[in-house]
Amino acid sequence: MKNRGFTTRILHSDREQPIEYGSLHRPIHTSIAYGFERVEGLADVFQGKTPGFAYSRQVNPTCNALEDKITLMEEGVASIVFSTGMAAISTVMLSLLKAGDHLISSRFLFGNTTSFLNTLENFGIEVSFVDATDAQAVADAVQPNTRMVFTETIGNPCTQIADMAAIGRLCKDKGLVYLIDSTLTTPWLFRPKSVGASLVVHSLSKAFGGHGDALGGSVTETGVFDWSAYPNIHEHCKSGDPVKWGIQQIRKKGLRDTGATLSPQAAHTLALGVETLALRMERACDNAARLAKAFAEHPMIDHVFHPSMPDHPQHERARELFRGFGSLMSINIKSGVDCFEVINRLKLPVISTNLGDNRTLVIPVAQTIYHEMGAEARKELSITDNTVRISVGIEDFADLHDEFIGALNAG
Ligand SMILES: *Cc1c(COP(=O)(O)O)cnc(C)c1O
Repeated sequence: MKNRGFTTRILHSDREQPIEYGSLHRPIHTSIAYGFERVEGLADVFQGKTPGFAYSRQVNPTCNALEDKITLMEEGVASIVFSTGMAAISTVMLSLLKAGDHLISSRFLFGNTTSFLNTLENFGIEVSFVDATDAQAVADAVQPNTRMVFTETIGNPCTQIADMAAIGRLCKDKGLVYLIDSTLTTPWLFRPKSVGASLVVHSLSKAFGGHGDALGGSVTETGVFDWSAYPNIHEHCKSGDPVKWGIQQIRKKGLRDTGATLSPQAAHTLALGVETLALRMERACDNAARLAKAFAEHPMIDHVFHPSMPDHPQHERARELFRGFGSLMSINIKSGVDCFEVINRLKLPVISTNLGDNRTLVIPVAQTIYHEMGAEARKELSITDNTVRISVGIEDFADLHDEFIGALNAG
């Protein structure tokens, strides 16, 4: 299967292992615990001598099926799924960092991730927030106790793109773990392993599942990092190939501690959703780029944030790194226009806080998801009171164009 295409491999990956009755999907295994013929079998699973299932908090066959798909999409060595994207991010960091360590993070982050990093600071982990669109800012922040660098791929809502290739080289030089949140790019647009990220997290709740009907998160070990030199690995996680020590610790220790387990039902829903990831992303990215162009030409729009725009500061970087420019964009409507009125005129796009749904979703960000941080912090992130984020879906382009341009012109 290795030389087959992305979608082909996802569609047929379940059948790489024998499935009962010739079923095309791996079944949903709801059992929490697993019974053994002889007690030696249970002891062997506990001691890691044989692979197997004991208790579903840490291992479940339906979750494993989804993990296998993610691993093949990321061309990694192993993956773990979680109940949400936040569960993935928090479990990874709690498993691999300890008090006294230093983390360098992009300051262009999904807001809830910033909130979690602030929590880590309360527990004695130092965090530096830097402008990661410039790798030099990351290099300047490195300290003797730095362990990890964290960036997203495309920032939300203003679509900043971290200098990931240069950051990856820096991390390799300095022996740092590079963790990338690739939610907005999905495994179809970008493979973080290609820039030297050793761990990749996704919120599966977004475009990965695509249908807005199941929460989930994941982490993948890409195999590029030598964990034998990493100081925070517990002895009991040091078995086998050192490239797997980090992810072993996240499963054995992290998932045990946080219990942030994905349900098998949600794992199945997400595995179905991702079968069409490439098709959906191509359509959504195409819709987004065409809408961005239409907005840029509209007199009521001051600025369009989308990596497809030639004046986007990281347009060339996006072109080099990604297969497409993504489906998320923001627009700054001219001041003096009430953006609420414009949004309220939309009939099709849903007023909603989510992103990466098949349906187009809109939200004014200053009054909602970025309300709590205050005006000063919003200004630093280029957010105005008239910034509207649009998560572009897979509707027919003409309908989206009519909706948005109609809503602007009616003012
Ligand atoms: C939504 C999102 C998350 C969190 O995912 P949940 O599944 O909602 O917990 C993390 N990172 C990014 C970039 C996101 O968009």
